[in-house]
Formats: sequence, C-alpha cells, structure tokens
Amino acid sequence: MLNIVIFGAPGSGKGTQSEKLIEKYGLKHVSTGDLLRSEIKKKTKLGLMADSYISKGQLVPDEVVIRMIEGLFEKHQGTPGFIFDGFPRTLTQGKALDEILDKKGEKISMVLSLEVEDEELIERLLKRGEISGRSDDNRETIELRLKVYYEQTAPLKEFYREQGKLVRITGHGSIDTIFESMATVVNRIIA
Ligand code: ADP
Repeated sequence: MLNIVIFGAPGSGKGTQSEKLIEKYGLKHVSTGDLLRSEIKKKTKLGLMADSYISKGQLVPDEVVIRMIEGLFEKHQGTPGFIFDGFPRTLTQGKALDEILDKKGEKISMVLSLEVEDEELIERLLKRGEISGRSDDNRETIELRLKVYYEQTAPLKEFYREQGKLVRITGHGSIDTIFESMATVVNRIIA
C-alpha cells in the first residue's frame, strides 16, 4: 500500500494537496478535521464535545481522534492506500497510527511536510476565514493553533525523521508547482 502522511501547520495547504494526491494515486482521504466538522454539523455528542476544543484552537483529545481512525481498514477494503491529513497531530497519535498499520502488516510510506512561513500561514487562514465561516479561522484562534502546532505537532517531524520517512517540501509557490514537487517524491518512492 501507499500510505502518505501529509504534514504541516494549519494553512500550509495539506487539504488542497491531499485532494490532488488522491486524484492522481487513487488513495482514500483520512482527514480528522473533516470527520470532526461533519460531527459538529450533525450536532452529535462527539461533535459538541469536539467543537468545545476546536473553536478554542486546542486539539481534540488523543483517544477521541485515535478511536475515529481505528476502523479505517474495515471501512475501505481494497484501497491502494491512504492519505493522512491532519492526523497524526501528537506523538501519541503517531505511535498509535504505527500500531494500527502494523497490525495489518502495513506502514507509513512517507511523510510529506509542507513548509510555510508563519506570516503566510496567518494571511491564508484569515482569508479562508472570510469565506469558510469556520469557527477557528479568526486571528486570535489562528495564533493559538500555530502555538499548539509548534508545541505538540512539530515534534512529530523528529519522530518521522528518525524513521527516515520525512521529506520536506516548500509550501510556497503555486498549487501546481508544489504538487509537482510532491508527485516527484512519490513517484521516486513507488518506482
Ligand atoms: P487545520 O490544519 O487548518 O488546523 P484541520 O481541519 O486539520 O485544520 O483541524 C481543525 C481542528 O480540528 C484542529 O485545530 C483541532 O482542534 C481539531 N483536530 C483535527 N485533527 C485532529 C487531531 N488529529 N488531533 C486532535 N485534534 C484534531
């Protein structure tokens, strides 16, 4: 299987690039953010609980998101692979994902890390907030999300670097140029 983790700060373009990777390689998209927002929309108990964290820019507890992705293989039997977008976000989640894959005799193929400067991230998220209506795309929450990213998520880079899986990709430039850099890396690994 081809299992890609797309990694990066909020606003780095993970969702946009995931869509393009899915189209090109036929992968299944696993976005914990999308899954959580769908629960919020449906006003489920899980959604209400998640919203209390998301709207404050905090992470939803590990056990909640880990449980959400546990049934993945059963749900998408026969898929050529997954693209993990916004998951894992903590070391605990990263280790849990390795275990879930390991049980199926699978592993992460590579981690594509989109590197974007803070100033640009804030600008993009503010712009997205004007159209998305997302409760977390306002300046105060954006700044908190970046802080959470550097404190809790960025350490995962070292975790994957040690496993020899981390590939850094510039997230500056046009959507297509960035995608080309990613596809070059993916093609080299699947060749
Ligand atoms: P972004 O990358 O723009 O922050 P996401 O849609 O990935 O957007 O996530 C939005 C919010 O959902 C996060 O700030 C967090 O509160 C919650 N969330 C999403 N994925 C996870 C996760 N794996 N662990 C904990 N919280 C998560």
